[in-house]
Amino acid sequence: MRYVSTRGSTTPMAFSDAVMAGLAADGGLLLPESLPDISARLDDWRGLSFVETAGAVFRLYADDIPHDELDALIAEAFATFDHPDVIPLVEVGDVRVLELFHGPTLAFKDVALQVLGRLFEHILARRGGDLNIVGATSGDTGSAAIAAVAGRAHMAIFVMFPDGRTSPLQELQMTAATDANVHCLAVDGSFDDCQRMLKAAFADQDFTARRRLGAVNSVNWARILAQISYYIHVSVNADGPCTLAVPTGNFGNILAGIMAREMGAPIEQLILATNENDILARFFDTGVYARGTVHQTLSPSMDIQVASNLERYLFLRLGRDPERVRAFMSAFSEHGRAKIGGSRKGENRVDEAVTAVRVDAQETLDTIAWAHASHGYLLDPHTAVGVAAARRTADASTRPICLATAHPAKFPETVARATGQDPPLHPTLSRLRPEDARRTPIPASATALKDYIANQDDLARISDRTS
Ligand SMILES: *Cc1c(COP(=O)(O)O)cnc(C)c1O
Repeated sequence: MRYVSTRGSTTPMAFSDAVMAGLAADGGLLLPESLPDISARLDDWRGLSFVETAGAVFRLYADDIPHDELDALIAEAFATFDHPDVIPLVEVGDVRVLELFHGPTLAFKDVALQVLGRLFEHILARRGGDLNIVGATSGDTGSAAIAAVAGRAHMAIFVMFPDGRTSPLQELQMTAATDANVHCLAVDGSFDDCQRMLKAAFADQDFTARRRLGAVNSVNWARILAQISYYIHVSVNADGPCTLAVPTGNFGNILAGIMAREMGAPIEQLILATNENDILARFFDTGVYARGTVHQTLSPSMDIQVASNLERYLFLRLGRDPERVRAFMSAFSEHGRAKIGGSRKGENRVDEAVTAVRVDAQETLDTIAWAHASHGYLLDPHTAVGVAAARRTADASTRPICLATAHPAKFPETVARATGQDPPLHPTLSRLRPEDARRTPIPASATALKDYIANQDDLARISDRTS
């Protein structure tokens, strides 16, 4: 399988190169040249464990890594999850909840990042060399990326977060990592400053090449691929074509669902659930993608206005035509607004398979309260957005499957506000020791970031030589 850019001007590359590159050199995102059709395999795949399904899915796309090594790496990644089924499906009244939060940081991002960290390590071991992973986070991504890279060979990770603007628990999930290859940088500025610093560091091509920078955000194809696995697993094992509700921010999770459906997984409908940051809901209803301002909500990991993965969807939807993708993206960056046609003549709805739903704070709280009072089940606020969207739109007889993206213990304040009770402490969180916290304050400047990385990188090389 070869990988091509949505902007059309990179030479097609192998899976391992796509994983190491993250973003394409022409500024686009990487996608497989074609999507394998799995319809003939569905019967064979029914009854497989999630780990086995993921192995089968990765084989289709990661054909430059030997099967046994791929299987071992995937099994090891999901052995870090604390549930025997890895991603259990549970009944909560008229909906089913797919718990994707049993990994080391209690958020669904672990599913993809635990695999990605091991893929990096595997590829680096084979090719030689090392990698400095740099990221910016407003909360969940940072800890999941750290958990994926901490203590792994040939890699270091540098995570920037806005000092004082993540929750104390989120900060501790990052800073309590004791491995020497983890660097938490508390930036004196906002999340936007962190992102600007990140972009500036990557834009310096000399620096990027010399310091071997790598990225772990959801533009990395391997993250989408890992997520495709659970859509296929849950849909082939469901009784009949299913409806899935997906709490959406950067469009990485639901994109995997759209691609699984395109491959032939028995998925009837995908419900795209947003909070008050509803740019994607508006786009799927009207075809108009128009930037708004970012609202702070009860589901902070979905507080995003510009969804980087939408570009992959546009590429698929616009006939894999890079010209049309470029036209759309440049209209959007110039005017903050771009449009595509509807899925049928005379209709504005963009995709017959996607129903977009916006859920506000009150409905989110009401949904948490409903699940708790009626079924004794605790929802985190992100998952609650998806459950609310499913209960409002889907036919209850289809028993929609809602993807649970975080454990409720990660968001105790909102859960307590909705239910009147503090959620029980999760052992993963109570194990974190504030006395282990290590962080380095840095000013909000790209130079400060680059200096810090260069300095640590030099130290690592000196110790490599002396060891
Ligand atoms: C990242 C995240 C989301 C949003 O997922 P996208 O792939 O960005 O759409 C939803 N919920 C939680 C808890 C997250 O951490």
